Amino acid sequence: MRWSDLLIPTLKETPQDAEIPSHQLMLRAGLIRRLGSGLYTYLPLGFRSLRKVERIVREEMDRAGAQEVLMPAMHPKEIWETSGRYEGLKNVMFRVKDRQDREMVLGPTHEEIITDLVSREITSYKQLPSNFYQIQTKFRDEIRPRFGLMRCKEFIMKDAYSFDVSSEAADGSYKKMYDAYVNIFRRCGLHAMPVEADTGDMGGSSSHEFMIPSDSGEDAILEADDGSYAANMERAEGTSDLPREFEGAEKALEKIHTPNVGKIEGVAELLKIETRQLVKTLIYVAEDGKPFAVLLPGDRDVNEIKLHKLYPGAELADPAVIRDVTGADVGFAGPVGLEIPIVADRTLEGMKGAVTGANETDHHVVNFDLERDSEVRNFVDIAFPKAGDLAPNGTGRLQEKRGVEVGHVFKLGTKYSEALGANYLDENGKSHPMVMGCYGIGVSRTLQAVIEQSHDDFGIVWPVSVAPFEVLVTALNPNDAECMAAAEDIVNGLEAKGLDVLLDDRDERPGFKFKDADLLGLPLRVTVGNRGLAKGEVELKARTDKNFEAVALDQTVEQASARIDAMREAL
Ligand code: ATP
Ligand code: MG
Repeated sequence: MRWSDLLIPTLKETPQDAEIPSHQLMLRAGLIRRLGSGLYTYLPLGFRSLRKVERIVREEMDRAGAQEVLMPAMHPKEIWETSGRYEGLKNVMFRVKDRQDREMVLGPTHEEIITDLVSREITSYKQLPSNFYQIQTKFRDEIRPRFGLMRCKEFIMKDAYSFDVSSEAADGSYKKMYDAYVNIFRRCGLHAMPVEADTGDMGGSSSHEFMIPSDSGEDAILEADDGSYAANMERAEGTSDLPREFEGAEKALEKIHTPNVGKIEGVAELLKIETRQLVKTLIYVAEDGKPFAVLLPGDRDVNEIKLHKLYPGAELADPAVIRDVTGADVGFAGPVGLEIPIVADRTLEGMKGAVTGANETDHHVVNFDLERDSEVRNFVDIAFPKAGDLAPNGTGRLQEKRGVEVGHVFKLGTKYSEALGANYLDENGKSHPMVMGCYGIGVSRTLQAVIEQSHDDFGIVWPVSVAPFEVLVTALNPNDAECMAAAEDIVNGLEAKGLDVLLDDRDERPGFKFKDADLLGLPLRVTVGNRGLAKGEVELKARTDKNFEAVALDQTVEQASARIDAMREAL
């Protein structure tokens, strides 16, 4: 294809509103354009790459035995009420009404829709396992759409749903999808890292996210330095092996005056101690309205996801309740003499010589020994781990990274099959709910993640598998018949070998065209100019090469296609 026939609106300047490199480059290379917040048009080059990502996803899903379908993007609200998610997902759902005033949902995901279908069409164990997938537009009213295709209101997702006879069988389906995801991201040229993830509102038992490490990622990940463990911060476990006995451990509990310092940092500063020597006491109110206390080291925060697994619906108490329970202003709560149930994070076990609130305004206690001075015996994992903690399953130490989630696999159990009546009959004619899994890939987010992971100061560095074109043939003298004829011969020769080739036939200065070539980042560049042609040569350069290589004109097609083959094989 000729550059002059395509809309490739490259930009010299970095767009003001694009904060991360991949977003800037997608705009600058003319891949996408913004319509409104979280809404983008894929221009010809962007769309070609999107299609290539989709093709890889489709091939791997097919290979794993999943069947492709296409479900409606618009749903009657009733089906969402059956599962309880019309309420549960109301904050992200776009809702519309038809002319009869019937409420409809623009699908943010499709568990309900596929489960409803399966409940009608699949009845016997003989039809299981089954796995259905689609590649389709999803709609989510995100709080903060940003970073281009990373977080949109409308985006392309591949979603798959597996149905099995038992939880063991479902583990098999899960494994197949997990392996397919590993292949998909590798083939897209991405180094995706699977991490243990929280199952959130989905109601399942376990899940993994596939993360692209990136400083701009919205997810925090903790990874063991020996590679033995990686988990999303929301779900990560870790234990501190730092000493828990501090100076004063031997001394008796003593009340001290700490006027106006109710904050952890303030107390630590006043007493010249580390924040982790403090015991932080948070008052919560359980679902039944009864208050309870959560204790943590001063340098750790409560993970409310973990808290809610133990105490569903619990909320931080308001100041009036805190005053009522502790007899003190906010900031001076402590476990000594507190007459409500108390639960402590496990990193507090054995804590001695600590400092905590005295349940009296403007006072703390020092030399606090958790075992000696309180009734607290209930230790649970309720805090976010920290970098430097020991990983839960080995010798490694946790380090913190940020990542972009490109895919997610979930074991769902029977939540949706029970709600929507997706049952099967076993060999003996007995009915059971099917055991489900669900598996998402953000196809459009993946496309941008490729660029986020693979670019340099000059532009995109496309992996060959998802580049909009594999080869760029640049005609340096497009107004010269000989130059154009040679360039076109090369294009035709490469196309005959099945390669995707873009011919830069624009009447522009060479420097300008080279800048654009770097920006577009196609994997291989062939430069055809009259000076080289006089010697029977053209120049070859991979996007990752430093220098051009002179190649005989009649060898160009062979050599270029061999280099592309090598790039493909490397993925
Ligand atoms: P996130 O935590 O980033 O919001 P999620 O947990 O809501 O993601 P899933 O419901 O698991 O995402 O969706 C499957 C995949 O769809 C995600 O792994 C991600 O790649 C992609 N995705 C989710 N939300 C968006 C969005 N707003 N824009 C683009 N891609 C998205
Ligand atoms: Mg989300």
